[in-house]
Amino acid sequence: MAGPLDGEMRGSRRRLVETLREKGITDLAVLRAVEQTPRHLFVPTGVRHRAYEDSALPIGNGQTISQPSIHARYLEILHLTGREKVLEVGTGSGYQTVLLAHLAAQVFSIERIAPLMQSARENIARAGVRNVSLLVGDGTLGWREYAPYDAILVSAGSPSVPQPLVDQLAEGGRMLIPLGGQDVQTLALLTRKQGTIVREDVLPVRFVPLLGQHGWQG
Ligand code: SAM
Repeated sequence: MAGPLDGEMRGSRRRLVETLREKGITDLAVLRAVEQTPRHLFVPTGVRHRAYEDSALPIGNGQTISQPSIHARYLEILHLTGREKVLEVGTGSGYQTVLLAHLAAQVFSIERIAPLMQSARENIARAGVRNVSLLVGDGTLGWREYAPYDAILVSAGSPSVPQPLVDQLAEGGRMLIPLGGQDVQTLALLTRKQGTIVREDVLPVRFVPLLGQHGWQG
């Protein structure tokens, strides 16, 4: 939806894409998705002027929208082709959900905080994507009804890999999940290969805790 700030925001978005290139993001599909997605609509009005900085920002309920370069790294690692069914745990503002919707066939996203999901639902609708299904609940249980998933993205830090998510990963599927302590984690890439799970550590990250039955106990 075009508003008075739209042109100005488009310029800011292009500069964000340049920043991501400078930080080593080369995947053109990911850069195009960032350029198409109005991040300013996903953050509270009080921090809207900072929407195109490469920073995490508060979104209410003690949660954050992650740094754009982290979203871009996640998406670059997954190498989505547009044909995948993806599960996202931790919808937050819905921003990454929309990036995924541009890059995959179907996106299923779970958030445990109902008011956050309410605004994410509105944000996602305003962004105009249609291939997204949303669920309020404990994402450590996955979303069995639509499993298996070609990719699973967990956007909160966990002490270990939730077994239901492993069970819901398709053969050849990839899961990105921050693993470690409550403050600092390692982003791990898990791939299901002939029934076994292969783990590769990607980079150090800082995410809010994954709270749930198979994560941190709230
Ligand atoms: N990627 C999101 C965005 O673009 O705004 C930001 C995600 S934020 C860093 C992490 C989210 O995970 C928070 O909204 C938090 O409430 C959610 N979360 C934590 N534990 C969860 C769980 N067990 N199930 C679903 N969501 C969870």
